Amino acid sequence: MTDFATTRRLFHLPEGVLYLDGNSLGPLPLAAEARVHEVLTREWGEQLIRAWNSADWIGLPRRVGDRIGRLIGAPEGSVATGDTLSVKVFQALAAALTLRPERKVVLSDTGNFPSDLYIASGLIQALGSGLELRLVAPENVADAIDESVAVTLITEVDYRTGRRHDMKALTAKAHAAGAVTVWDLAHSAGAVPVDLTAADADFAVGCTYKYLNGGPGAPAFIYVAPRFAETARPILSGWMGHEAPFAFDLDYRPHASVERMRVGTPPVLALAVLDAALDAWEGVDMADVRAASIRLSERFIAEVEARCPDLALASPRDPHARGSQVSFRHPQGYAIMQALIANEVIGDFRAPDLIRFGFTPLYLSEEDTVAAAKVLERVMTERLWDDPAYATRSKVT
Ligand SMILES: *Cc1c(COP(=O)(O)O)cnc(C)c1O
Repeated sequence: MTDFATTRRLFHLPEGVLYLDGNSLGPLPLAAEARVHEVLTREWGEQLIRAWNSADWIGLPRRVGDRIGRLIGAPEGSVATGDTLSVKVFQALAAALTLRPERKVVLSDTGNFPSDLYIASGLIQALGSGLELRLVAPENVADAIDESVAVTLITEVDYRTGRRHDMKALTAKAHAAGAVTVWDLAHSAGAVPVDLTAADADFAVGCTYKYLNGGPGAPAFIYVAPRFAETARPILSGWMGHEAPFAFDLDYRPHASVERMRVGTPPVLALAVLDAALDAWEGVDMADVRAASIRLSERFIAEVEARCPDLALASPRDPHARGSQVSFRHPQGYAIMQALIANEVIGDFRAPDLIRFGFTPLYLSEEDTVAAAKVLERVMTERLWDDPAYATRSKVT
């Protein structure tokens, strides 16, 4: 059994704050500070450029990729890290499209995160080969998979409602129709058990600053199924994805593994933070995380529905149909969230009317979720949100 009292002590949680936004930005892992200090002083400071070899900075993206791989059912050497998730979506989709050159449809859904859709549109425009981005409602994805579809570009867990797709069933359906799958695990990695191998997924991508606690702007990851590792074309063919970067050949030859999806020089400081953050997952069983996450979210929903009749559940009621987040609707959602934050309960707001809460058993307890629901009750019954100070929207909501 995972001991969540122990994992909680691995994070810095500001005194008095109830943090239900680890689905957007995980908290600071305490180990990160010492790790970064060491990289700054002993490695960069003392060893200078020698540290690429002596501290194996060059191997860091691969080591971190393998650690993420263990959390998502990916074998050693099948996950590359670096860049941002948006860039990794671009690479995965481009590589997947080259595997089905005769087909013209990229299928996604209206619950997908806008950046994924923008990237897909931009890529389609750049390729200029008659491709079409076809969007359907999340619940209609399965029916929309037919033999015109080249690639399905689906985010497993909906960032707004927490609705969760059935990755295994949709992948099987896509394969039966001859389509290639790209799964976005932004709200899955570290949130729910993922088994890319068992699901037979083709490509997957994700970020590490949400449930994996890698810090703001932490490097993203990309998975390529081993069967495509030597054929998937890395459209961003940078030198770090070359078979021999330090041969400085004039011609590009992709690395014979997922490493071909690396682009440029790895962000060593950010990778060091992420590496330290991943220490918190050592010995953690994702089945325990899932069971605890369901317990927390079910308790939170029950408390909020009993205390705040004006808030309408926007997430699936069945916990197995959700990821690890819960949203409620209210026309004054933005002001409500601002009032909550002013009262030390941190969640976030997603336009037009959703207040959103993430459940992260590594550092969030059942008492925390009940305490948060009580503050939300006070915000609602005392109309604390009804204050002009909470009406003006910040750039980041
Ligand atoms: C958070 C998120 C992103 C953000 O992409 P970045 O490039 O890291 O800014 C993209 N897609 C999905 C599905 C997300 O949830």
